[in-house]
Parts: sequence; structure tokens; C-alpha cells
Amino acid sequence: MTTLKLPLEVNEYFPYASVRPSQDRFINTIFEAVQARRSVLIEGSNGLGKTISAISACLPTAVEKNLKILYVARTHRQHDRVIEELRAVFKKHHVSGISIRGRNQMCLNKLAVKNAFDAKSLMEACELLKAKGKCPYHKDPEEQTYDYLILKQQIASRPYKASDIQKVCKRKGLCPHELVKGALSDVKVIALSYLYVFDPVIRAAFLKNIEANLQKTILIVDEAHNLPETAIDISSSSLSLFVIKQAELEAKKYENKEIEEFIHFFRNEVEKLTENISREQIIPAESIIEILQKHGSVVNPRDFFEKIHEVGSSIRRNLLADGKYPRSYIHGMSEFLLRWLDTFGDDSFINVASSYLNRDKVKTAKLEIVALDLSKVTSPVFSSTYSNIVMSGTLQPLEAYARITQLPENTVQCVLPSPFPREHILSLVCCGVSTAMEKRTPAMYQTMIDRINEVVQNTPANTGVFAASFDVLNALLAEGLEAALDKPLFHEYRGMSSKANEEIVAGFKACAEGDGAVFLGVQGGRTSEGVDFPGNQMNSVVVVGVPYAEPTPRVKAQISYYEECFPKLGREYGYILPAMKKASQAAGRPVRTLDDWGAIIFLDYRFSTNYCRSFLPSWVSNHMKVLHQPGDNILAQEIHRFFNP
Ligand code: SF4
Repeated sequence: MTTLKLPLEVNEYFPYASVRPSQDRFINTIFEAVQARRSVLIEGSNGLGKTISAISACLPTAVEKNLKILYVARTHRQHDRVIEELRAVFKKHHVSGISIRGRNQMCLNKLAVKNAFDAKSLMEACELLKAKGKCPYHKDPEEQTYDYLILKQQIASRPYKASDIQKVCKRKGLCPHELVKGALSDVKVIALSYLYVFDPVIRAAFLKNIEANLQKTILIVDEAHNLPETAIDISSSSLSLFVIKQAELEAKKYENKEIEEFIHFFRNEVEKLTENISREQIIPAESIIEILQKHGSVVNPRDFFEKIHEVGSSIRRNLLADGKYPRSYIHGMSEFLLRWLDTFGDDSFINVASSYLNRDKVKTAKLEIVALDLSKVTSPVFSSTYSNIVMSGTLQPLEAYARITQLPENTVQCVLPSPFPREHILSLVCCGVSTAMEKRTPAMYQTMIDRINEVVQNTPANTGVFAASFDVLNALLAEGLEAALDKPLFHEYRGMSSKANEEIVAGFKACAEGDGAVFLGVQGGRTSEGVDFPGNQMNSVVVVGVPYAEPTPRVKAQISYYEECFPKLGREYGYILPAMKKASQAAGRPVRTLDDWGAIIFLDYRFSTNYCRSFLPSWVSNHMKVLHQPGDNILAQEIHRFFNP
């Protein structure tokens, strides 16, 4: 810790008496850039105090120019962390803030919550329920009592977590979502999920609520390594055979012969189209038009799909009038078909047909519209805000990130040194092992199990093992990983529910109090990207193999698309970067706070190459040690020495 050397303006807000190593540089970089109305792309490892630093560095400009700060992050825990830091700021300088959650988390109307399958469907259901006077928690402006208005004012005057507001609203029979919405225009810092800012439909509604446009906001994107995948998800959509079948039954139920007959025909055609596809296949966008031509009676596809859409909307209205949840499969199907037409001829989208096994292990299929260009989602935002602060512990190479997300040209790029004392992190690569396809033999897995065991035996408590894929994870199990270990093993499996995952993570963490355990998961999975394991909860992590995606048609299409946009860089941007991001995230699990000690072991010689290392964060790659011949217990000795200095 060092004494403060921060700009006076930032000092007014920064609530602590000292800064961590590199934290002052982090703050100064952001402060100066925002003052100059520039954006910042910055990599700083865990333990740096990025949340409070970014907020304190942005507040002077936000207050001076009357801007809002939108702090987007992935988890509720991260949103609440913003409020906790703001409470510390509040003791020095009065600043208001709210962490907001999606309607599905805030909504008290059981009918709406029970049946909503995503944020958009709940938003629509809520609007319909309100319009029909079917939500007792909703208050029209003329129904808002003095109490209600005082509550609203209070929320806009200091930092509040979404959960605090929800508790009060439950007691008073008010809609927490509406109360927060009413207060938003007066709140300075709003912590929220990516969707509020990057999904164009949700953003439009949100900006209306805060009574501001993006020009009047400073955007802080935390854990920004997640943004590329989120942006692709936002602009992609899918239609399963299950939904098509349900739409057909719905049309039958409502005795709409014309639509029932069309959907029946359409379903048959999709079944035919997908019956010989073993995994997935890119299909021409014209396929839908060809199906319509075959059908014969549809002259104008858009008019026809809009007509179906209107039928779906009216089914939803009627369901609501009967006090039922307004779900219509016809509506969902027609939205997908209209989107298919909207993206027709746009080479930043591909159309994919795939077949797969459903939960009951029955073969089924789906159609997808897959977005290839994430900048179509990020660029409209980044080019409109006052400034963007894009930060994470794993963003390198920054230039690639800036290009694929289309950050403004004059964005300041910065990589900060690790604030961890050097002796707190051991970073090792074991040569002689690899998960490259041609090397996946039983003997190779046996060697990997031996190496994992060396790590586990010399780790004080818990070890995480993150495999390149479920195939690798299953092979480790099949080759006897569990029997080889003398600590309990908790492992993920394909298709695991989030509840089951939470349970095994909790069980694993609990073992940190005793002799420890081993957690086996996949890179790019829920645990390797979304769960923190401070202290003894994970002393060592073993990253087994480079998690390159299977070269499926969509992966190849992504590489080609980037090759077109960025000649000679297609493979790097579309294939290497996503894999290295997953590996970096898994590697960072044990080192969350400055007091942590973490051993990071890469089991794949490819991580030792300069090329691969250039994609790892500097706090992992800078002092990386390569074990060229890690036999004879050499790895065990390294781990033992690290934990017993
Ligand atoms: S008004 Fe509030 S409680 Fe009612 S449905 Fe909408 S979000 Fe839910």
C-alpha cells in the first residue's frame, strides 16, 4: 500500500487512505482520459480495486458535466459491490447509486415471473398485465401516494442495492421495478447488466426511464472479456422444432386453419431439411423462401409473417384477459421468421440448421440466425457515450479487442502490472502433454492424471482442474482420475443444471476448511468463468489443454468473416482469442484478493510458445516457468516449494 498521489478532484471521492500497487496509475489513466472525453481500454488483474478506482476516476467529470455513470457487469454480486463502494464514497461525498436487476428478479407478480423465459418476454408480459389492470403492484401516477413519492426520493438520494429496495416494496405491496424506474432519472451511478446497454430493445426502454441519451452517460464495462460473447448472443436467435410443433398445436387450438396448415407444412420441411445433418450445417438464407415457394400460397413473405405475428399478438392479449400468462408460440415463431428476412443478404449473419439430442435423448433440430459481427452491437453504444471505460483482468491483446468491438479510434490502451507480490503467484507450463486431437491417447491422459495428482498432493487445501472440453473431462474420468486422487473429487458434467452446479461448488468450497478437495470442470464453463475461489477455496488451478473450439461450420464462418474484415487475422480473432480468453479466465480463479497465493499450472506444451503466451494476461505470462521435462516429481517439488517457502 502507498499513500495517495491522486488528482485533487478524484481525492474528493476516493474513500480510502492509501492505494494498492498500480491502483493510482489505473485511476490517473481513467481520470485523464475521461476529462479529455476519450475512452479507455485497460487490463488490470484482480486485487487491483478496479471498481472503486473506475468510479472515483469518473465521478469528477460526471458531476461537472451532469452525466450519469452506467456500470455494467455480469453478476448481481458485482452490481452490489458497486453499491458497497459507493457507500464508502458517500461518507466523503454524497453520491446516489442503485444496483438494478432484471424485471424477473424484481417483479413480485407470480403470474408474470412463473412463465417468463427471458427478459424480453417478461417485459412484454408486464406491459400487457399493466395495460389490462392485472398487476396489483403497479401504480398509475395518480395512484402514487405521498409515501410512495417519499420512498422514490429517498432511493434517489443515496446508494441502494436492488435487494434492499425489493424488501421494502414487498412490505408495502409496491412494484420494486417501477419504484426504481421512477427514481432512476435522479440517480448518478447505476450498476446493471450488459443487456440494459447493449440490447437495442432493452436499451431504448431503459434510456427512456433514466431520461437521458447515451451522450449523457459514461459507460464502465467491467469483466469486459465477456462482452464479445454477450454481443453475439444478443443479435443471434434460434427456432427449435419443439417451438414449431407447439405453434402448430396453438393454431389448431385457436382454429386458425390457414396458419395451422402453413406451420404443419413448414415443420415437415424443416424436418426434411435437418434429417441428414449430423451436427450442424450452414444453409442458404433462401431456404425459407424456397419453402414458401413450395407451399405455393404465400405471395409476399413479409406480409405473411407479419400477419402470423399479429395473430400471435392477439392470442397473447386474449390469454392475458383470461388471467393467464400471455405466451404464444406462434408469436415467437413469427418473430424468428421476420428476423430471418431482416438479416437476409447481410453477410455478417449466417443461417444454420442443426440436429441434436434433447433432454430426453430424443433427436430434434433447430434453425438459427448466427451473428458474426459483434461490433454491430457494441459500436452503436461505444460511439454514442461520453466515454467508455472497458476493463478486465484478461483483455490482451488490447488492439484485437479494440478492433473487433470497434472502440473509438482515440481510445487510450493500457496494461497495468500485477499488484500481487511476485512470490504470491506461481505460473508453470508442463511440456510433454497436450490435448491436441492427435495426441489424445490413454497414455497421454495417464500422464496428465499423474501431473494433476502431483499438484493435488502438494496443495494445502483445494485444487481446481479445468479441462479444454467435456470430451477431455470425460476422458480424464474414464482413465481413472478419481481413483488416483486421495482427496474427494467434485465434477461438472455436460448439461448440468445451474442448481446442481451451485451445489457441487458449495461442497467443494466447504472442503477448504479441511484437507481440501478437487474440482473438475471445463474452461469456458460456469465455474471457470463465474465463480471466485479466494483463500483456501482454490490454492492451485490446473488448466488442462488449450480450449480451441471444434472447427464447426459456424466457427469456420467466423474465421472467414474476420479474415475478410481483418486480412491475415481471421484465425487469430475468430479462433485463438476466444480459446485463450477461456484459459486465462480459468487460470485466474485462485487469485482474487491481494492476500491470495495461487499456483497456476498449464498442462499443455502449447502454452509455453511465445505465440500462445502473447494472448495470456501479463500477470500470468510475465514470470511463467516452463518445465521442459516435468517427470521425476519435478512438478510436485515446484508446488511443494511454492506453498512451503
Ligand atoms: S408491474 Fe412490476 S410487479 Fe407487476 S408485472 Fe410488472 S414488474 Fe411485475
